[in-house]
Amino acid sequence: MNDMEEKFIGSLVGAVVGDCLGSEYEFVTPIPSREKMLKTYNSPCIFKYTDDTAMSRSVAFSLIEKKKLDCIDLAKKFTDEYIRKPYGYGATIGEVFHKLNNIFSSKEYASITEEEIFSPSKQQHSGQGSFGNGAAMRIAPASLFGIKSDNKEFEDLVRKISLITHAHPFGINGAILEATAVKWALKYPNNDSDLLDKLETFAKSLEVDSEQKVYQEKITLIRQLMLEYETSEEDVATKLGNDVTALNSVPAAIYSFLRTTKERFSNLSPEEKFKETILFSISLGGDTDTIASMAGAIAGAAYSINCIPKNWIKICEGVDDARKQAHKLYELQHCK
Ligand SMILES: [Mg+2]
Repeated sequence: MNDMEEKFIGSLVGAVVGDCLGSEYEFVTPIPSREKMLKTYNSPCIFKYTDDTAMSRSVAFSLIEKKKLDCIDLAKKFTDEYIRKPYGYGATIGEVFHKLNNIFSSKEYASITEEEIFSPSKQQHSGQGSFGNGAAMRIAPASLFGIKSDNKEFEDLVRKISLITHAHPFGINGAILEATAVKWALKYPNNDSDLLDKLETFAKSLEVDSEQKVYQEKITLIRQLMLEYETSEEDVATKLGNDVTALNSVPAAIYSFLRTTKERFSNLSPEEKFKETILFSISLGGDTDTIASMAGAIAGAAYSINCIPKNWIKICEGVDDARKQAHKLYELQHCK
């Protein structure tokens, strides 16, 4: 197996590990100490995955099967999975899946259009669409699939995957920035660009017509935090957020990884850096499974599968499937 394949696998397994371990403390207050957390993760239980992994698996499955983005197939896979096991999803996303299910059960599959598929998500929240983190939390397989795409193709890929459930620009733009971070991390540490510069350029173009430069402001805050020697979890959660919106969780996930690239962590091994990313992201509190899953996708891509602790891999549900899907996505992009 070569380095890039190990990074592909690291990304999808990292996302699963973050979801499974993070779900233990979702909206728990106060978040226990690191020692207590590590003790919990040393127990012989299996930690179950949640909606983050369930939806991510559907994205990977559809891209692998169709060898391209097929939004109608992906919407069907999301819907079937939700109907089969409707637990742990965001509060209002069920409305979208029930409407999609009505479309799939009342019409001939071949006659269904993309426009119809995107319509239920556009009706959410009085027509504004959802700005939750549900599009960003499932996007890592798109970063692997789109590793060779140019910026425009990549943005379109992520946008359309997002639009099935999230129509608000904050929800979509969060997914694009998270996907960009994962794609960048696949080339880390040999990447010749700076992640924050890259994210800022993307955010500027995404927010060019918007009065609110919300993601640009978050990137500025991340830059400031990166200049500090140490940052407390409370301070980071206050500045970057830790809730179920994309705007208040994607920047926290990106910072949780970037923090491990600071000079003060240079003595840590890549495995310790991966662990530090996950534990810090969970310590932020709030939507811990999604923030840890998004941080895990970036750190897993950067540090690769060999650096994800073996004892964590053993206790997380869904790792084997993530490994297989990452392998197939790698073959699709590198073995033509
Ligand atoms: Mg979840």
